[in-house]
Amino acid sequence: MSDNYLVLDKVTKRFAALKAVGGDDGLSFSIRKGSFLGLVGPNGAGKSTTFNLISGVLKPTSGRILLEGVELTQTATASISGLGLGRTFQTPRVFGSLSVLENVLVGADNVGEGLRAALSGRWRKADAALAARAMELLERVGLAERAGHRVSDLSGGELRMLEVARQLIREPRVFLLDEPTAGVDPMLQKKLGSLLVELHKAGTTLIVVEHNLHFLFEIADTVVVLQSGQLLAEGTPDEIRSNKKVIAAYLGAEHAA
Ligand code: ADP
Ligand code: MG
Repeated sequence: MSDNYLVLDKVTKRFAALKAVGGDDGLSFSIRKGSFLGLVGPNGAGKSTTFNLISGVLKPTSGRILLEGVELTQTATASISGLGLGRTFQTPRVFGSLSVLENVLVGADNVGEGLRAALSGRWRKADAALAARAMELLERVGLAERAGHRVSDLSGGELRMLEVARQLIREPRVFLLDEPTAGVDPMLQKKLGSLLVELHKAGTTLIVVEHNLHFLFEIADTVVVLQSGQLLAEGTPDEIRSNKKVIAAYLGAEHAA
């Protein structure tokens, strides 16, 4: 059962005539509870669309996605994060007019109420414990010194780290990260890598889309390779590195042994 913690069952997504995910037969794979899955593939392979389908931002054209037997594809988008699913976006989504710390606090709440409370400063009195937790998360993502800054002061890489902290305050059971190292400087990347390893050790199920395969293959335990929306290969990082189909289609000759 734990092998089938998160299941994609013959999922397809079309945008008009474009078969973005699943081709004709559908994309199927499952994820073990507590595993650290790397999702890779060339540009346009359907990685972000797959994330959008799992997190409910998009509904599939056909097929089902299940988390512990609960059909996410039949669950209202707003309710899916309540099931313990957190995600970051390829382009960070933050509140530009709020401070770094306020952005993390807003993440603690579903929608609306958290934002209103943050804007009115109510959270200061309402929940010192929550603020302490938010500061601790900012520490973990390397942004503690930026807590009081406007989000507009942050670099692109720092925004990505802020997005991670905003999601972590809700303690997701399943955490999806879309290209978390893009634009992130080497020091913060290292911090992010350690943070992901810690989350993995603590039992969080991780799914990470990443172009930086050196970064990903060091820390993931399983890798799924997509090509043209379809499953090209699945295995451990070592198996994927030496998979001839993957080398030919994606990694290129320079990665061949
Ligand atoms: P990846 O993240 O692997 O680079 P995407 O999932 O973003 O790939 O995109 C897969 C394909 O679907 C691409 O051809 C992309 O142009 C297309 N696509 C993605 N989102 C949309 C959309 N909202 N409308 C139309 N086409 C889209
Ligand atoms: Mg993408």
